[in-house]
Amino acid sequence: MALSRFARDFAAEIAQHDWSDAPYRRDRAGHDRSRDSKSGAQVLSDSEIESLLTNVMWVTAQVLGYHDPNFDVFEFAEACGVNIRTSRGAKSGVIDAGLRAPYGRYMRPGTWEFDPVTEVVTTETSDFYHATEKCWDFQRGYRGARLIKFNVEEVPARWKPCKCMTVDQL
Ligand SMILES: [Zn+2]
Repeated sequence: MALSRFARDFAAEIAQHDWSDAPYRRDRAGHDRSRDSKSGAQVLSDSEIESLLTNVMWVTAQVLGYHDPNFDVFEFAEACGVNIRTSRGAKSGVIDAGLRAPYGRYMRPGTWEFDPVTEVVTTETSDFYHATEKCWDFQRGYRGARLIKFNVEEVPARWKPCKCMTVDQL
């Protein structure tokens, strides 16, 4: 899945920026210490730079994921220059754990609240219906079947609510 144009552009700008002296001076977007004659001596450690970069990636990803049903945080993080792999080479769960998006339901930017569910999704062979196609359980079991959508008030009884439906009541 390719990143949206917005996601690609955010990632390009975040990746390009030199974050090594970000707490110590205000500079323009696209700052690069090596081309800055006024750069001071104080710089962050590599680990501090990685933390800063990851936090910038997360707050941006929260907005992108909220708006884009196809958003992939791993693809975005990698494009931002964040290391998304564990020492064994697997995708690190830390990356998606940094989002406010349990079961793939993104909280509204700037809040700790979910939008109310109005439409739900399932397939003919599913036992459950979901708040979003991005639900982790839905994604795990999805085999490309035609999607069926219902108004949340009108789901036939043969489908049961997935945990993603009540994640906002936890
Ligand atoms: Zn679900």
